[in-house]
Amino acid sequence: MQSFNPPRRTLLGPGPSDISPQVLQALARPTIGHLDPLFINMMDELKTLLKYAFQTENEFTIAISAPGSAGMEACFVNLIEPGEKVIVCRNGVFGERMRENVARCGAEAVLVDDEWSSAVSVDKVAQAIEENPDAVAVAFVHAETSTGAVSDAEAIAKLAKQKDMLVIVDAVTSLGGVPLYVDNWGLDAVYSGSQKCLSCVPGLSPLTFSQQAIDKIQARKNPVQSWFLDQSLVLGYWSGEGKRSYHHTAPVNSLYALHEALLILKNEGLENAWQRHQQMHQLLKQGLSKLGIEFVVEEEQRLPQLNAVYIPQGVDDAEVRQRLLNDYNLEIGAGLGALAGKAWRIGLMGYGARRENVALCLRALEEVLK
Ligand code: PLP
Repeated sequence: MQSFNPPRRTLLGPGPSDISPQVLQALARPTIGHLDPLFINMMDELKTLLKYAFQTENEFTIAISAPGSAGMEACFVNLIEPGEKVIVCRNGVFGERMRENVARCGAEAVLVDDEWSSAVSVDKVAQAIEENPDAVAVAFVHAETSTGAVSDAEAIAKLAKQKDMLVIVDAVTSLGGVPLYVDNWGLDAVYSGSQKCLSCVPGLSPLTFSQQAIDKIQARKNPVQSWFLDQSLVLGYWSGEGKRSYHHTAPVNSLYALHEALLILKNEGLENAWQRHQQMHQLLKQGLSKLGIEFVVEEEQRLPQLNAVYIPQGVDDAEVRQRLLNDYNLEIGAGLGALAGKAWRIGLMGYGARRENVALCLRALEEVLK
């Protein structure tokens, strides 16, 4: 056996996205102890940078040492207790995973189902809230990576807040790619992933809880069933001022990388990053339409960073993706769930959302399809 040396690919799938050399360099810096005062300072800065990315003043804003799925699970196991009712919006793979999380908490999921190509219907959510005033939370995926649809998080949250329900949001693919205002929109529990529009290494899940969410956790009747994801235990680990105590060994170097990735986002400016994603999406859209390739999601509901497109008639899905990978070192994503074999998912996320990548993708697709 030899050292593993992966090829240099261009990652235009649903994640992980391309990582900038600056972030990879940060990852290679010397490991220091996770309770070293210098590391603790870095974690404090990380919290500030995460608050900026989420647009929140929430004191509880951290990165879970595990991928986006752990962020999802952390929200449900901490906020939901057995016997409670949660309105879950399901318009793709990750909405279904939310339902499963609710069921595993011993709670009841009231489903709001939509097509696997559309946003969550705000009207249907309004009706579900009306019919289930005893629900404690409304949960939905802001950016459905399985379909490329973005939902109106602000409108859904407004409805839930009118009935004092908690708002649980999956922002794994949305954070850094499209507008997301945690405080202004009244979102209570929001989790994300490091490997999408933040363009950091996979395996970290930014998470933020509002005061209402913290109050719900503190009023729990039963202990959280997961020790690792029990956020009341993690609080002491992330709340600084020299009194940090051991909970688990932090992924030290990955957190350097997240700090660097968030610094890049801060320096670019959130609005500029959102605009760049939109511009690259428009460029891709123009090129794809010349190739006769059509989008799965209608224009107003499309995510710029995740472009789900129908595979043209008579084209071999796997063969095209394999040739893109082998001949162009280019990865695009296969369809997921109901769209498996029917669609490709082209991600333009974070550092990957650049003009040269759009050009490479269009040229490679044109040549392979010929
Ligand atoms: N939620 C959404 C919307 C996602 O796209 C993903 C991953 O693609 C996840 C949750 C799960 O994140 P992870 O794969 O980092 O566990």
